Amino acid sequence: MSDDVIPTTQDDAPTRCGFVAVLGAPNAGKSTLTNAMVGTKVSIVSPKVQTTRTRIRGIAMQDNSQIIFIDTPGIFRPKKRLERAMVAAAWAGLADADTVMLVIDVQRASGKRGLDEDSSSIIETLKKNGYQDVILVLNKVDLVNPPVLLDLAAKLHAEGIFSEVFMISALKERGTADILRYLASRAPLGPYMFPEDEVSDLPMRMLAAEITREKVFLKLYHELPYSITVETDKWTERPDGSVKIDQTIFVARDSQKSIVLGKGGDQIKHIGAAARKELEEILGQKVHLFLFIKVREDWAEDRARYSEWGLDFDA
Ligand code: GDP
Ligand code: MG
Repeated sequence: MSDDVIPTTQDDAPTRCGFVAVLGAPNAGKSTLTNAMVGTKVSIVSPKVQTTRTRIRGIAMQDNSQIIFIDTPGIFRPKKRLERAMVAAAWAGLADADTVMLVIDVQRASGKRGLDEDSSSIIETLKKNGYQDVILVLNKVDLVNPPVLLDLAAKLHAEGIFSEVFMISALKERGTADILRYLASRAPLGPYMFPEDEVSDLPMRMLAAEITREKVFLKLYHELPYSITVETDKWTERPDGSVKIDQTIFVARDSQKSIVLGKGGDQIKHIGAAARKELEEILGQKVHLFLFIKVREDWAEDRARYSEWGLDFDA
């Protein structure tokens, strides 16, 4: 695209639009960072690893730039079919990106065992593929002492693939605005890809399902495996301005069904209340949320489910 067709903002600045892939080991803080920069919750944050199974994009506006974040599934060394599909999706996301950002948990990396295997293998793969302008984000600085941090920064800089280093706390939103300003200044010139007020291209139904799934995890992550999925079955706007949302929580076994239900329906009531509260905040309207629980075995081998998530079943 030539310069003269690039739209300009009100103050006559040319617009910029860039895709940023957020890489990092599970639990490094990718979702937290993306959410901090986007300013609204679009991706799922969980104290348990591997809850981000799909490429969810957050969109941030900064100055005259639109930044689109690709919050990739945590990259790890795959064994099972689902894991292979997740890893393949993560690396496929890179092809769309103008900028690659690697997030590292500094507390974990500065521990006795040094850099974790996931981060090392990501760095090796980036090197192998000739990446040179990777942005290094050292996250969770609130958990370590400065000397430890400088050591780690120097060691990673020596890898020769990082063009910029940021030391931040995504959780406390320290340094996150600096990253956004930097990304905005470097985004390629071009028109915005999404309306300016859009925070996520994830369909509302899916986002609503993700919110409920997060509440299930937050409440029950000691007792349940990852194999819980949530689907939004119905979305009915009512004349009084409220919305009725019907969702199904799919579990793998009857025993899990009772866990999600809880004594006298206790758990599901709390899960529903928490999800409804958040949905009302996001949607800005009253929400009637109806949750159903169903047993579905072997969803991890279900081809249709994979394409729904944008994952490749045969990866
Ligand atoms: P992801 O798997 O890389 O997307 O990681 P998440 O964003 O889900 O974060 C994993 C965990 O680390 C969550 O419990 C976050 O609250 C926590 N976390 C993320 N960033 C920070 C940070 O800057 N400081 C601290 N102390 N915890 C963080
Ligand atoms: Mg995540």
